Amino acid sequence: MSELIVDQLAVKVGGSQILSGVSLTVPGGEVHAVMGPNGAGKSTLSNAIMGRSGYEVTGGTITMDGQDMLALDTFERAQAGLFYVMQAPTEVPGVSMFDMLTASLSAQGTASTDLAATLSAEAAAIGFDVALLERSLNVDLSGGEKKRSETIQMSVLAPKVAIIDELDSGLDVDGLRTVAQRVEKLTNDGLGVLVITHFPRLLHELNADRVHVLAQGKIVTSGGPELAIELEQTGYGAYVEEETPEPKSGGLDDLFSM
Ligand code: ADP
Ligand code: MG
Repeated sequence: MSELIVDQLAVKVGGSQILSGVSLTVPGGEVHAVMGPNGAGKSTLSNAIMGRSGYEVTGGTITMDGQDMLALDTFERAQAGLFYVMQAPTEVPGVSMFDMLTASLSAQGTASTDLAATLSAEAAAIGFDVALLERSLNVDLSGGEKKRSETIQMSVLAPKVAIIDELDSGLDVDGLRTVAQRVEKLTNDGLGVLVITHFPRLLHELNADRVHVLAQGKIVTSGGPELAIELEQTGYGAYVEEETPEPKSGGLDDLFSM
Protein backbone atom coordinates (compact mmCIF):
# COMPACT_ATOMS: atom_id res chain seq x y z
CA MET A 1 0.00 0.00 0.00
CA SER A 2 1.22 3.50 -0.84
CA GLU A 3 1.96 6.26 1.66
CA LEU A 4 2.37 10.01 1.32
CA ILE A 5 4.48 11.53 4.09
CA VAL A 6 4.64 15.27 4.67
CA ASP A 7 7.22 16.08 7.34
CA GLN A 8 7.83 19.50 8.90
CA LEU A 9 6.84 21.23 5.66
CA ALA A 10 7.50 24.98 5.54
CA VAL A 11 6.20 27.01 2.60
CA LYS A 12 6.55 30.63 1.58
CA VAL A 13 4.05 32.30 -0.76
CA GLY A 14 4.34 35.82 -2.13
CA GLY A 15 7.09 36.59 0.39
CA SER A 16 5.10 35.39 3.44
CA GLN A 17 5.81 32.23 5.43
CA ILE A 18 2.40 30.53 5.28
CA LEU A 19 3.32 27.03 6.51
CA SER A 20 5.96 26.56 9.19
CA GLY A 21 6.14 22.86 9.97
CA VAL A 22 3.22 20.74 8.74
CA SER A 23 3.51 17.01 9.32
CA LEU A 24 0.99 14.36 8.29
CA THR A 25 0.92 10.90 6.76
CA VAL A 26 -1.70 9.63 4.32
CA PRO A 27 -1.64 5.85 3.96
CA GLY A 28 -3.27 4.18 0.95
CA GLY A 29 -6.92 3.32 1.54
CA GLU A 30 -7.38 6.05 4.16
CA VAL A 31 -9.09 9.44 4.05
CA HIS A 32 -7.42 12.25 5.98
CA ALA A 33 -9.09 15.63 6.22
CA VAL A 34 -7.49 19.02 6.72
CA MET A 35 -9.81 21.63 8.18
CA GLY A 36 -9.04 25.14 9.36
CA PRO A 37 -10.02 28.78 9.12
CA ASN A 38 -9.97 30.70 5.81
CA GLY A 39 -6.47 31.72 4.86
CA ALA A 40 -4.81 29.17 7.18
CA GLY A 41 -2.87 27.71 4.26
CA LYS A 42 -4.90 24.62 3.31
CA SER A 43 -4.69 25.34 -0.42
CA THR A 44 -1.05 26.34 0.04
CA LEU A 45 -0.39 22.86 1.46
CA SER A 46 -2.13 21.24 -1.54
CA ASN A 47 -0.28 23.41 -4.04
CA ALA A 48 3.07 22.71 -2.38
CA ILE A 49 2.48 18.95 -2.41
CA MET A 50 1.79 19.09 -6.15
CA GLY A 51 4.70 21.49 -6.82
CA ARG A 52 2.77 24.46 -8.16
CA SER A 53 5.04 27.35 -9.11
CA GLY A 54 5.07 30.26 -6.68
CA TYR A 55 4.84 27.97 -3.64
CA GLU A 56 8.39 27.94 -2.30
CA VAL A 57 9.24 25.06 0.01
CA THR A 58 11.66 26.47 2.60
CA GLY A 59 11.91 23.40 4.82
CA GLY A 60 10.79 19.84 5.42
CA THR A 61 10.17 16.90 3.11
CA ILE A 62 7.40 15.34 0.99
CA THR A 63 7.85 11.70 0.07
CA MET A 64 5.62 9.07 -1.48
CA ASP A 65 6.66 5.46 -1.06
CA GLY A 66 10.14 6.67 -0.21
CA GLN A 67 10.44 8.79 -3.36
CA ASP A 68 11.36 12.48 -2.86
CA MET A 69 8.48 14.44 -4.39
CA LEU A 70 10.28 17.77 -3.93
CA ALA A 71 12.93 16.64 -6.42
CA LEU A 72 10.27 16.13 -9.11
CA ASP A 73 8.45 18.50 -11.45
CA THR A 74 4.66 18.59 -11.18
CA PHE A 75 4.13 16.27 -14.18
CA GLU A 76 6.58 13.79 -12.68
CA ARG A 77 4.68 13.84 -9.36
CA ALA A 78 1.53 13.05 -11.36
CA GLN A 79 3.32 10.20 -13.12
CA ALA A 80 4.49 8.93 -9.73
CA GLY A 81 0.81 8.68 -8.68
CA LEU A 82 -0.23 12.00 -7.13
CA PHE A 83 -3.49 13.58 -8.27
CA TYR A 84 -4.71 17.05 -7.34
CA VAL A 85 -8.27 18.33 -7.55
CA MET A 86 -7.78 22.07 -7.21
CA GLN A 87 -10.22 24.26 -5.29
CA ALA A 88 -10.92 25.97 -8.64
CA PRO A 89 -9.98 23.45 -11.37
CA THR A 90 -8.07 24.84 -14.37
CA GLU A 91 -9.81 25.31 -17.72
CA VAL A 92 -7.86 24.00 -20.73
CA PRO A 93 -9.20 25.48 -23.98
CA GLY A 94 -8.72 23.32 -27.07
CA VAL A 95 -8.02 20.07 -25.19
CA SER A 96 -10.81 17.59 -24.52
CA MET A 97 -10.87 15.28 -21.50
CA PHE A 98 -10.42 12.35 -23.89
CA ASP A 99 -7.26 13.89 -25.41
CA MET A 100 -5.85 14.85 -22.01
CA LEU A 101 -6.45 11.40 -20.53
CA THR A 102 -5.07 9.62 -23.62
CA ALA A 103 -1.82 11.59 -23.21
CA SER A 104 -1.74 11.09 -19.42
CA LEU A 105 -2.34 7.34 -19.60
CA SER A 106 0.33 7.00 -22.25
CA ALA A 107 2.78 8.95 -20.07
CA GLN A 108 1.91 6.62 -17.17
CA GLY A 109 2.42 3.59 -19.39
CA THR A 110 -1.10 2.33 -18.63
CA ALA A 111 -3.04 2.91 -21.86
CA SER A 112 -6.73 2.06 -21.51
CA THR A 113 -8.15 -0.42 -23.98
CA ASP A 114 -11.40 1.46 -24.47
CA LEU A 115 -11.10 4.92 -22.97
CA ALA A 116 -14.26 6.26 -24.66
CA ALA A 117 -16.41 3.53 -23.09
CA THR A 118 -14.72 3.97 -19.70
CA LEU A 119 -15.33 7.71 -19.79
CA SER A 120 -19.00 7.31 -20.70
CA ALA A 121 -19.51 4.83 -17.88
CA GLU A 122 -17.70 7.04 -15.33
CA ALA A 123 -19.66 10.10 -16.48
CA ALA A 124 -22.98 8.29 -16.19
CA ALA A 125 -22.08 6.97 -12.73
CA ILE A 126 -21.67 10.46 -11.27
CA GLY A 127 -24.24 12.38 -13.32
CA PHE A 128 -21.83 14.19 -15.65
CA ASP A 129 -23.40 15.08 -19.01
CA VAL A 130 -21.70 12.80 -21.56
CA ALA A 131 -21.90 15.58 -24.18
CA LEU A 132 -19.46 17.60 -22.07
CA LEU A 133 -16.75 14.95 -22.60
CA GLU A 134 -16.29 16.24 -26.17
CA ARG A 135 -15.79 19.83 -25.07
CA SER A 136 -12.62 21.61 -23.95
CA LEU A 137 -11.54 20.43 -20.51
CA ASN A 138 -13.45 22.28 -17.77
CA VAL A 139 -14.13 25.29 -20.04
CA ASP A 140 -17.38 27.08 -19.17
CA LEU A 141 -18.41 24.31 -16.77
CA SER A 142 -20.20 25.16 -13.55
CA GLY A 143 -18.33 24.67 -10.26
CA GLY A 144 -20.11 21.35 -9.66
CA GLU A 145 -19.49 20.11 -13.21
CA LYS A 146 -15.79 20.87 -12.79
CA LYS A 147 -15.61 18.77 -9.62
CA ARG A 148 -17.40 15.94 -11.45
CA SER A 149 -15.00 16.31 -14.38
CA GLU A 150 -12.00 16.05 -12.05
CA THR A 151 -13.51 13.02 -10.33
CA ILE A 152 -13.83 11.23 -13.68
CA GLN A 153 -10.17 11.99 -14.43
CA MET A 154 -9.20 10.64 -11.01
CA SER A 155 -11.16 7.43 -11.55
CA VAL A 156 -9.52 6.82 -14.94
CA LEU A 157 -5.95 7.66 -13.91
CA ALA A 158 -6.16 5.60 -10.70
CA PRO A 159 -3.58 7.58 -8.70
CA LYS A 160 -2.01 6.34 -5.46
CA VAL A 161 -2.85 9.47 -3.48
CA ALA A 162 -5.33 12.24 -4.31
CA ILE A 163 -5.33 15.72 -2.80
CA ILE A 164 -8.86 17.07 -3.03
CA ASP A 165 -9.28 20.76 -2.21
CA GLU A 166 -12.89 21.59 -1.31
CA LEU A 167 -14.71 18.92 -3.31
CA ASP A 168 -17.89 20.45 -1.93
CA SER A 169 -17.50 23.86 -3.59
CA GLY A 170 -20.11 24.11 -6.35
CA LEU A 171 -21.74 20.71 -5.79
CA ASP A 172 -25.32 20.48 -4.60
CA VAL A 173 -26.27 18.01 -1.85
CA ASP A 174 -27.06 15.12 -4.20
CA GLY A 175 -24.04 15.82 -6.40
CA LEU A 176 -21.76 15.84 -3.39
CA ARG A 177 -23.07 12.50 -2.19
CA THR A 178 -22.68 10.88 -5.63
CA VAL A 179 -19.15 12.20 -6.14
CA ALA A 180 -18.11 11.36 -2.57
CA GLN A 181 -19.39 7.81 -3.01
CA ARG A 182 -17.25 7.42 -6.15
CA VAL A 183 -14.18 8.68 -4.29
CA GLU A 184 -14.95 6.42 -1.33
CA LYS A 185 -15.08 3.44 -3.70
CA LEU A 186 -11.62 4.39 -4.99
CA THR A 187 -10.30 4.37 -1.43
CA ASN A 188 -11.58 0.81 -1.05
CA ASP A 189 -9.32 -0.02 -4.00
CA GLY A 190 -6.34 1.51 -2.15
CA LEU A 191 -6.46 5.23 -2.98
CA GLY A 192 -5.18 7.48 -0.19
CA VAL A 193 -7.02 10.80 0.10
CA LEU A 194 -6.07 14.13 1.62
CA VAL A 195 -9.29 16.12 1.54
CA ILE A 196 -9.78 19.75 2.48
CA THR A 197 -13.27 20.63 3.55
CA HIS A 198 -15.43 22.66 5.91
CA PHE A 199 -18.22 20.08 5.96
CA PRO A 200 -18.45 17.14 8.39
CA ARG A 201 -21.12 15.65 6.11
CA LEU A 202 -18.56 15.14 3.35
CA LEU A 203 -16.27 13.39 5.82
CA HIS A 204 -19.15 11.13 6.76
CA GLU A 205 -19.77 10.27 3.08
CA LEU A 206 -16.05 9.64 2.56
CA ASN A 207 -15.82 7.56 5.72
CA ALA A 208 -12.87 9.69 6.88
CA ASP A 209 -10.24 8.17 9.14
CA ARG A 210 -8.49 11.25 10.55
CA VAL A 211 -9.15 14.97 10.87
CA HIS A 212 -6.34 17.52 11.18
CA VAL A 213 -6.74 21.19 12.02
CA LEU A 214 -4.37 23.60 10.27
CA ALA A 215 -3.82 26.96 11.97
CA GLN A 216 -0.82 29.24 12.50
CA GLY A 217 1.08 27.36 9.81
CA LYS A 218 0.94 24.01 11.59
CA ILE A 219 -1.32 21.07 12.38
CA VAL A 220 -2.52 22.19 15.81
CA THR A 221 -4.66 19.17 16.64
CA SER A 222 -5.75 15.86 15.10
CA GLY A 223 -8.49 13.41 15.89
CA GLY A 224 -11.15 11.12 14.48
CA PRO A 225 -14.21 12.23 12.46
CA GLU A 226 -15.89 13.37 15.70
CA LEU A 227 -13.44 16.30 15.74
CA ALA A 228 -15.11 17.69 12.59
CA ILE A 229 -18.52 17.59 14.26
CA GLU A 230 -17.14 19.24 17.39
CA LEU A 231 -15.55 22.01 15.28
CA GLU A 232 -18.84 22.70 13.54
CA GLN A 233 -20.26 23.59 16.95
CA THR A 234 -17.28 25.34 18.53
CA GLY A 235 -15.52 26.95 15.56
CA TYR A 236 -11.75 27.33 15.44
CA GLY A 237 -11.53 29.88 18.27
CA ALA A 238 -9.68 27.52 20.59
CA TYR A 239 -6.97 26.93 18.00
CA VAL A 240 -6.49 30.44 16.63
CA GLU A 241 -4.13 32.74 18.47
CA GLU A 242 -5.76 35.90 19.78
CA GLU A 243 -4.65 39.16 18.18
CA THR A 244 -2.64 41.25 20.65
CA PRO A 245 -5.23 43.53 22.31
CA GLU A 246 -5.03 47.23 21.50
CA PRO A 247 -3.62 49.33 24.38
CA LYS A 248 -6.43 50.83 26.39
CA SER A 249 -5.16 54.42 26.40
CA GLY A 250 -7.06 56.71 24.07
CA GLY A 251 -10.23 54.62 24.46
CA LEU A 252 -13.58 55.58 25.96
CA ASP A 253 -12.26 54.95 29.50
CA ASP A 254 -9.75 57.75 29.04
CA LEU A 255 -12.39 60.13 27.73
CA PHE A 256 -14.54 59.59 30.80
CA SER A 257 -11.63 59.87 33.23
CA MET A 258 -10.68 63.32 31.93
P1 ADP B 1 -6.86 28.42 2.74
O1 ADP B 1 -6.90 27.50 1.58
O2 ADP B 1 -6.59 27.74 4.05
O3 ADP B 1 -8.07 29.31 2.85
P2 ADP B 1 -4.63 29.61 1.30
O4 ADP B 1 -3.59 28.55 1.30
O5 ADP B 1 -5.38 29.82 0.03
O6 ADP B 1 -5.61 29.41 2.54
O7 ADP B 1 -3.96 30.99 1.66
C1 ADP B 1 -3.10 31.16 2.79
C2 ADP B 1 -2.49 32.55 2.75
O8 ADP B 1 -1.56 32.64 1.68
C3 ADP B 1 -3.51 33.66 2.52
O9 ADP B 1 -3.12 34.76 3.30
C4 ADP B 1 -3.38 33.95 1.04
O10 ADP B 1 -3.73 35.29 0.76
C5 ADP B 1 -1.90 33.67 0.79
N1 ADP B 1 -1.66 33.19 -0.58
C6 ADP B 1 -2.07 32.01 -1.09
N2 ADP B 1 -1.68 31.87 -2.37
C7 ADP B 1 -1.02 33.01 -2.67
C8 ADP B 1 -0.36 33.49 -3.85
N3 ADP B 1 -0.30 32.75 -4.95
N4 ADP B 1 0.22 34.71 -3.79
C9 ADP B 1 0.18 35.45 -2.65
N5 ADP B 1 -0.42 35.06 -1.53
C10 ADP B 1 -1.00 33.85 -1.52
MG1 MG C 1 -8.28 27.08 0.07
